[in-house]
Amino acid sequence: MTQLTIDLGGTAVKLGVFDANRLLDSAELAAADGRLVLDEVAAAADRMLRGARADGIAIAVPGIVDPESRRLVAAHGKYAALHGVDLAEWSHARFGVPAVVENDARAALIGEMSAGSAHGARDAVLIALGTGIGTAAAIDGRIIRGAHGHAGVLSGHVTVDLDGPRCPCGNLGCAEALASTWALGEAIARRAVSIGPELARRLGAERAIGIRDLVETRNEPESAAVLERYVRVWGAVVVGQCHAFDPTVVVVTGGVMRSRDVVLPALVEYVHEHLWSSSFRPAFVTPEAPALSVLRGLAALALDSATARDTHGPR
Ligand SMILES: [Zn+2]
Repeated sequence: MTQLTIDLGGTAVKLGVFDANRLLDSAELAAADGRLVLDEVAAAADRMLRGARADGIAIAVPGIVDPESRRLVAAHGKYAALHGVDLAEWSHARFGVPAVVENDARAALIGEMSAGSAHGARDAVLIALGTGIGTAAAIDGRIIRGAHGHAGVLSGHVTVDLDGPRCPCGNLGCAEALASTWALGEAIARRAVSIGPELARRLGAERAIGIRDLVETRNEPESAAVLERYVRVWGAVVVGQCHAFDPTVVVVTGGVMRSRDVVLPALVEYVHEHLWSSSFRPAFVTPEAPALSVLRGLAALALDSATARDTHGPR
């Protein structure tokens, strides 16, 4: 069984070719927008497959996937030209196999539950902290998707502050609009937070400021205050996930986990302190190979789809 997996991520497109659970080859392309991406992705996939036929194909997108039409229906600014494109049809036309299309955070949780940090768990949630806040949930061994593909993936868009800024999603004071890399950039630009001299120097060095910069400059009281607030916002999201989905395992991933030693203990402390009194205190885990979570989940989905096609014939 050969599976082709494609992660159309916010900052990069990652590709992987698997034989069942074994990664044979991977590649990364800079993310752009629109059909050009698909042409480049197809060319890269051809090189990786080396003439072999993919039995199953799965594609992850950073937004809501309509489960019926298998189209990306909302991603707020990312891959605008791919909205409404039938990626399964594209895959069928280009590779002879219709792709499974899945939300990226959901694919990451599938990857971690099938072979990674949440292996063996039947009830798990994932929170990916980085450019935005991605989430996913599984109950009783099944990833939840809901009637319209929205279930479990919007925990970063719960209102944390009714008086907070309007989020591009349409809601007010979303966690993501208060504590994400893009929110940090916006808050600094409109001077909603004060920054210390070292963070100001980094900002002046004309490179994008990330949450890692906050962590690295936390000896400055301004950075420490922003970071503490961010951890509280992330903690509120995880408390909400635990209240909604009752997991035994919380997978914490995303670029912020490069500062795991600083962030994770504070996050766990917040969650344990604020959970409903009788709530189960879940285990917190982080992926060993976070860059592969999504591709591994896609490999599992592609394998399932290939097996189902073999069993039930082409659909
Ligand atoms: Zn929002």
